[in-house]
Amino acid sequence: MNSVIAPDKPKSINLLDFDRKSLEAFFVEIGEKAFRATQLMKWIYQEGVDDFDEMTNFSKSLRTYLKENCTLSPPECVVEQVATDGTCKWALQTACGNRIETVFIPEESRGTLCVSSQIGCALACTFCSTAQQGFNRNLSTSEIVGQLYFAQKRLGLENRITNVVMMGMGEPLLNFDNVVRAMRLMMDDFAYGLSKRRVTISTSGIVPAMYRLTQECDVSVAVSLHAVNDQLRDELVPINKKYPLKELLEACRDNVKLAPRRRITFEYVMLAGINDSVEDARAMIKLLKTVPSKINLIPFNPFPNSRYECSSAEVIDRFRAVLHNAGMVTTIRRTRGEDIDAACGQLVGRVADKTRRHLKLAMKGSERAA
Ligand code: SAH
Repeated sequence: MNSVIAPDKPKSINLLDFDRKSLEAFFVEIGEKAFRATQLMKWIYQEGVDDFDEMTNFSKSLRTYLKENCTLSPPECVVEQVATDGTCKWALQTACGNRIETVFIPEESRGTLCVSSQIGCALACTFCSTAQQGFNRNLSTSEIVGQLYFAQKRLGLENRITNVVMMGMGEPLLNFDNVVRAMRLMMDDFAYGLSKRRVTISTSGIVPAMYRLTQECDVSVAVSLHAVNDQLRDELVPINKKYPLKELLEACRDNVKLAPRRRITFEYVMLAGINDSVEDARAMIKLLKTVPSKINLIPFNPFPNSRYECSSAEVIDRFRAVLHNAGMVTTIRRTRGEDIDAACGQLVGRVADKTRRHLKLAMKGSERAA
């Protein structure tokens, strides 16, 4: 008789792939009560226990079942770097051999983890080094929440990660289901219990997914604006050709409409001579007039072969002052972890590019040289 086990059936179930709802369904399916889900989540995420034998409120037979069929497998850490300012960067290897990067940024009153959502990135923002790497695939839920799981264990439970920003490699809204499931675990009281103000998703502006997010998952939203007119934004953030500013801002208004005190954070990378004039600042005031917003100016972080320069400190201050004088809440992002290439837009990992972007870029380069 043929084997009933499909050849591609995974040998073990990675429990980090489940949010509370799917974990409850899993326990019911194996003949257990649904409340085992929250018990298990407490062991895994709050107590840091990864040995099923130590889960003392489970019966012996359940423990045996879990041991035989399940794992808790975050991506494996292969490189750890610590910057002079205390910022940590970890290269984590996925089962398929690619590497993603995760960054921990300690501050006096909080500790922020910057989490990746994809291996590489399919978007081609011209000022971002992840973009140059091309794209391999979406990360699974366990690979996303696994970054927090790994980092919290590595830092020790006494150094609590208080904030998560989905600002690492990739466009999180192009990996909607896995990212939302992971963020639900981050906010679940039986897992990490972070408040929705402390979990931020950053997007380049995938408009339909922004509407869906508003409906399905209440988290803080940051939008990578970077230009205040479509012509320039088409160039810097090419997804703008598909979802132009007018549609993007409509989706932003929709996100905050039911939460009167909520604001969208607009990220704006400061590129010398490109988007940093006083006129640009004035245009931003006009553009964002009808959206409750906070502005976060990001000094451009260079990387090999980047074609831009960062605006000077004076120009950034002048830009901020124009916005501030118009009553807009404006901060300048302090660059962290520079000496280990851990700053915004510097995360590269190791990506087996499926889009052949390297090749295309190289060909463009040789065309120019010819
Ligand atoms: N794909 C998501 C998350 C990415 S990164 C997004 O686009 O929002 C987080 C922020 O860093 C984004 O605002 C991104 O535009 C910005 N960034 C990318 N490259 C940068 C660089 N070289 N210097 C400064 N900021 C950069």
